[in-house]
Formats: sequence, structure tokens, C-alpha cells
Amino acid sequence: MSEVKKIAVIAGDGIGPEVVAEAEKVLKKTEELFGYKFEKEHGLFGGIAIDEKGTPLPQDTLEMCKNSDAVLLGAVGGPKWDNNSKELRPETGLLGIRKELGLFSNIRPAFVFDCLKEASTIKPEVLDGTDLVVVRELTGGIYFGEKFRRESEFGEEAVDTCAYNVMEVERIVKQAFEIARTRSKKLASVDKANVLESSRLWRETVNRIAPDYPDVELEHVLVDNCAMQLLRRPSSFDVIVTENMFGDILSDEAAMLTGSIGMLSSASLGEGSFGLYEPVHGSAPDIAGQGKANPIATILSVALMFKLSFGYQEAGDLIEKAVKDVLDAGHRTGDISTDPSKALSTAEMGDLIIAAMEK
Ligand code: NAD
Repeated sequence: MSEVKKIAVIAGDGIGPEVVAEAEKVLKKTEELFGYKFEKEHGLFGGIAIDEKGTPLPQDTLEMCKNSDAVLLGAVGGPKWDNNSKELRPETGLLGIRKELGLFSNIRPAFVFDCLKEASTIKPEVLDGTDLVVVRELTGGIYFGEKFRRESEFGEEAVDTCAYNVMEVERIVKQAFEIARTRSKKLASVDKANVLESSRLWRETVNRIAPDYPDVELEHVLVDNCAMQLLRRPSSFDVIVTENMFGDILSDEAAMLTGSIGMLSSASLGEGSFGLYEPVHGSAPDIAGQGKANPIATILSVALMFKLSFGYQEAGDLIEKAVKDVLDAGHRTGDISTDPSKALSTAEMGDLIIAAMEK
């Protein structure tokens, strides 16, 4: 009998509830197939929480997340709340939940399904074998440094400060080495050490930690070079670790290698095994409530949760294989289909993936 894992489920707004429903079906299927026990609790978050509780991140939702082993999140936001004041915006809830849960890294896998290679803007032969993960530092760097304006002799001047301390670098770099160990044991640390002092500290710290992971092959790559190499030789990367702003940009670039945003999963991790798992896409108000959303990103987020938070490698692999089999068989939702008349609904895609897990 497997131990009970508590999962906080937050559907959110727009297509969030539609894609999360399919991910919950996958959770149920793995209970049947592997004997896992999941205790799920549902909470309000984002726009719907603003409407019903007057705040994007209600205290009871936060407590529910803190008492869980992992969080599964759909998406938040929508035009209804776009003109709200800052504290009443769904996105403020997102920043708040990451901070409150101590999530300091964002993990974004980018792998190319062979049958979808043609949908990418990159030549198929360049994409061959691409399967990488970007590990982005999430709570430090220039986005969180001191910001101010002042007068200069050429008029008003704006200043953003990029600061990192050793602890912040150490914890994310160790996490990246650990993730590399579970994959093909290659780590690229991305910085701008030829120019930035914070990058020099980053590189020194990486080099000090590296001897603890002699089985992982380490390369240092300057961020501008990395941006080029991701387009030239994406399959040569395995795990990429980098600071907040570089990671923000590189993870979007890596994501676009793979085609549709409806396919991309992500994890935000803190200390230990706790994590928050969500699709990269937003609440897609343009297709919300129509059964058109691709649930694959959210379903693959469950596979990530299994691997990174629960150590359920086999079940995670099974989910990924089921997604691949369904795509290989030619099944598509509208966002990845060349023939809209044959596009599957969100629930049809979810059901096919669950059926493929049985085989
Ligand atoms: P979006 O990702 O919601 O949508 C961009 C485009 O991709 C749309 O055309 C949409 O229909 C399509 N798309 C997205 N996910 C899809 C899926 N699963 N299947 C099929 N098509 C899909 O980005 P946006 O339009 O810039 O933002 C909409 C709202 O979502 C905004 O309020 C934004 O703030 C919010 N948002 C939330 C998150 C989050 O919850 N983490 C992330 C990004 C954006």
C-alpha cells in the first residue's frame, strides 16, 4: 500500500478548470494502475477568488497548499480583472503564492515530439533528439533588486539592481545538479561572467559545488551564446541552470522549439520535495468554456509532479509515453491540428491519453 499524497488542486480561471479536470482523470487512473493514494483538496485562486472572497489568494487556499505534498494549478487571469488595482489582480496572487510557498526555482522541460516536429518554426533535422530542461532561479536577481529613479545630467534616470548571494545560487545549482543526475548527466550553467559581478559569483559557486557531482558533465555558457546555441544545436543541451532574467528569456526561447504552448508543462520547487505544477500557458479567455483547450500541458505537469515531488518515475514515464502514443496515432486538439474539422475536444484528448495508459 502506497503512502497517501496530499495534492492541493487549484483550477483557477478560463480554461484552467477544463484542463485540470483532465489531469485529475489521469491522477485517478494512476491510482488504479499503481495503487497510489491521493487525497485531493480544491481551493479558490485568481479571478474566481477575487469574485468570491475579495482576494486573489485567500488564506484558506494558502493553508491548503502549505499542508499538501504538491500543488496542481490550472491558470489564472482574464479580461474581467485586467483593470483591477494591483492587489486585486490574479497575477498578484501568482507572485504571492510562489513567495509564500518558498518556491525559488522554475523547471521547464522542452522536448520535441517527433510527430509534431513539422509544426515548429525550426528545421526538423535541427530539432532531432531535443529533450532539455531549463532550471530558472525565481526569487532573486534584477526582478527583485532595488529599483529607483533619480535625476541625472541627461534627465531622469531609472536603476534596477541585480543582486545574488551565495545561498541563493547554491540552492538552485544543487537542485539543477540533482535533476541532471536523473537525466543524461549534463549541466550547462548560463551566466554573463565576462561582464557581470553577480555572474562571476554565480560561476565561482557553480565551480565550488561541481566536485560534489563528479558524474555530471558541466559546461559554462555565456547567455548570449546560449541563446544562439539553443537554435543551432538544441539537442546538445540536457539541463540548463541560470538566474532569473536569463531564465525567463531562455525558457521562452526553448519552449518555442517545441511548437504549441498547449504542450508545455512546468514545476516550481522549493526546499525538499514540495512543488507547484502548472501548464506554461495562461487562462486562454478566447477559447474558455468551449472544450477546445489542449489538456496535454497540464497532464504532463502531473508527470513532472510524479517524478520531481513523489519519486514515481515509472508512472511519470507512463503518462509521457501515453501522450506520445496518442499524438503518434494522429490525434490532435485544435491548437496542434492542421485540419480543424478533425480537432478533438479537451475531454476527448484526456480520455484517449487515459486509454493509452492502459496498454
Ligand atoms: P494564454 O497562454 O492564455 O493564451 C495565448 C494563446 O494561446 C491564446 O490564443 C490561447 O487560446 C492559446 N492557448 C493557451 N493555452 C492553450 C491550450 N491549452 N490549448 C489551446 N490553446 C491554448 O496567454 P494570454 O492570452 O497572454 O493570457 C490570458 C490570461 O492568462 C491573462 O489574463 C494572463 O495574465 C493570464 N496568464 C496566466 C498565467 C498563469 O496562470 N500562470 C500565465 C500566462 C498568462
